[in-house]
Amino acid sequence: MLNAKGYAAHSQTDALQPWDFERRDVGADDVLIDILYCGICHSDIHQVRSEWGPAIYPIVPGHEIVGRISAVGANVSRFKVGQLAGIGCMVNSCQHCDSCNHGQEQFCDNKQTVWTYNARDKDGSVTYGGYSNKIVCDQHFVLHVSGKLDLKGVAPLLCAGITTYSPLRKWKVGKGHKVGVLGLGGLGHMAVKFAVSFGAEVTMLSTSPSKEADAKRLGAHKFVLTKDPEQVKNLDRYFDFIIDTVSAPHDYNMYLQMLRTNGVQICVGLPPEPLKIAGGSLMRGNRVLTASSIGGIPETQEMLDYCAEHQIVSDIELINIKDVNTAYERVLKSDVKYRFVIDLATL
Ligand code: NAP
Ligand code: ZN
Repeated sequence: MLNAKGYAAHSQTDALQPWDFERRDVGADDVLIDILYCGICHSDIHQVRSEWGPAIYPIVPGHEIVGRISAVGANVSRFKVGQLAGIGCMVNSCQHCDSCNHGQEQFCDNKQTVWTYNARDKDGSVTYGGYSNKIVCDQHFVLHVSGKLDLKGVAPLLCAGITTYSPLRKWKVGKGHKVGVLGLGGLGHMAVKFAVSFGAEVTMLSTSPSKEADAKRLGAHKFVLTKDPEQVKNLDRYFDFIIDTVSAPHDYNMYLQMLRTNGVQICVGLPPEPLKIAGGSLMRGNRVLTASSIGGIPETQEMLDYCAEHQIVSDIELINIKDVNTAYERVLKSDVKYRFVIDLATL
């Protein structure tokens, strides 16, 4: 076994604190990565606090991982020691079912998707995430990372990036479309960047007046404060698409009214409570309410390559790992600009 160190929570009410643990040895199909940076996703907070169901404690969160390869197994030919690499939300799956064969490993038909943390690996051991100094991962789930981009800003692409890129691509969002991005946090700011890059007209829908200037700087063409009924009034039947990144309970019906005929609202935010939808909100205009879960490995690589080509990274605040609990509190207050990234050199 390999000795690793990281930050873990030992119960749903505990703060994260330093913790030493073990990872498996590098197997024939494995890649060992020395972690440089790891983003803080709101999903980390949901899980550390068991908001999506009981977590496995101690929990070492983190699924926006960028680092440098320090060892590879005998069967690994796509990666070499010394290269940069990334890991997102998954570290394994059955790798032979229909979903896996079609690059949608997050929906493995054999229910063997192994999440990067808070999950059981194929051998029954618990997985630990990127708030740590090193990680061992099956080569299929390791991504190539370009050295052309600022690595600190690349880390959040592994979750916030792919989670917003994937549905925008699936629905072929681009020139001529009016897109509303709901919530300006980690996912929201990447949704703005991608939708603008794909040629859409983008409106930021936010509860935070202080974020207007940043939304425009990120590329949004318009900013609407959703708490102001006067501003919202003008959005009746306005959008072709809304991408909803909100992490807390909110009124879905209010936003469905903003969709034109056949408009689509894509939920990527995952509040703990079930949604309350009035049938009429969907029927009037044959509107579509759908969701999207991260993205498969081939599309994640496509997204990383697109970002390298178009110089797209996340806007981040780099933190010392000892400040991770303060960062969580700030995320919960929507005070994030626009992703916290842990510098693992501080571990
Ligand atoms: P985040 O950085 O905390 O951003 C969420 C934003 O939502 C906030 O900045 C805030 O933006 C807005 N917001 C928060 N509370 C709100 C409320 N009560 N009403 C209205 N707006 C509110 O979170 P994130 O990391 O982007 O993650 C967002 C959600 O996506 C989380 O639930 C996360 O678990 C989920 N997620 C899903 C996937 C997937 O595969 N589908 C992947 C990753 C994350 P404003 O200040 O602009 O209002
Ligand atoms: Zn995430």
